Amino acid sequence: MSNLEANRWFTEISDRDGSAFSLRINKKLDEIQSPFQKVEMFETTDFGNLMIIDGCTMVSTRENFFYHEMMSHPALFSHPAPKNVVIIGGGDCGTLREVLKHPDVETVTQIDIDEVVTQMSLKYFPELCESNNDPRATVMFDDGIKYMREAAPESIDVIIVDGTDPVGPGEGLFNHAFYTSCLNALRPGGIMIQQSESPLMHMPLLLEMRDAMKDVGFADLQTLPFPQPIYPSGLWSATMARKGEQFDGFREQDVETANFDTEYYNVGIHHGALATPNFMKRAFDK
Ligand code: SAM
Repeated sequence: MSNLEANRWFTEISDRDGSAFSLRINKKLDEIQSPFQKVEMFETTDFGNLMIIDGCTMVSTRENFFYHEMMSHPALFSHPAPKNVVIIGGGDCGTLREVLKHPDVETVTQIDIDEVVTQMSLKYFPELCESNNDPRATVMFDDGIKYMREAAPESIDVIIVDGTDPVGPGEGLFNHAFYTSCLNALRPGGIMIQQSESPLMHMPLLLEMRDAMKDVGFADLQTLPFPQPIYPSGLWSATMARKGEQFDGFREQDVETANFDTEYYNVGIHHGALATPNFMKRAFDK
């Protein structure tokens, strides 16, 4: 639920969490009702541009780096040599840009169901789309659930599920059938990573996701908490699942010598994200 109030604050009221979050806005820039969802754009006074999908905050200019870097670099540096990457969702193209910073990645295929999200991002977040024309990138518009169901077995090294909450078109990205498709499409040792909501506000959903990933046969899981200032509670997470093998650290040396810039991610941040807070550990161990 959201409303643009007379005093020019955009407020996302999160009924399920009993909380709300506001950003002061200058003006509304755009609104398109796509066949899948309502996509709105605002210009804020302090966070740059802001994308809202079906009333939920998605991306702002000022802070999207936390999310996009944590959705990409931990998984890519945990894999020994990722060459073929698939992004499900991710239509704002911020995750795509981060993945393409890895010079040894050979192909990245992004499948978002809604072309309107990418059209809006091209217009209002051009910096996130600056790598869309990289020859290694393929940007498609289709249902990611169907794409994964039909993907060739053992053809992908890293799958990044950068989807919306488990409502609307994103609902089917959170169940056993989808995780089975992902497992089948990964090569041995391959890694799937999915945004897994707020550990503080949505622990039952996070536990369901982890259980489902284990049930379908992923060998090992890591849930990485990270700050996400504009999402409910400000604390968010991504869960990584590995096919056939335990996680075995990450390529620290390669992070240190990486020839690209990040705003948040580094070796220390990756180590910190692997240190599970006690309230999460207790919930996972139950
Ligand atoms: N990074 C931001 C975040 O997590 O809030 C933005 C996420 S946004 C890019 C999530 C994307 O998932 C949307 O563009 C939406 O169209 C897409 N999506 C939802 N369900 C999908 C599905 N079944 N297949 C492919 N993409 C889907």
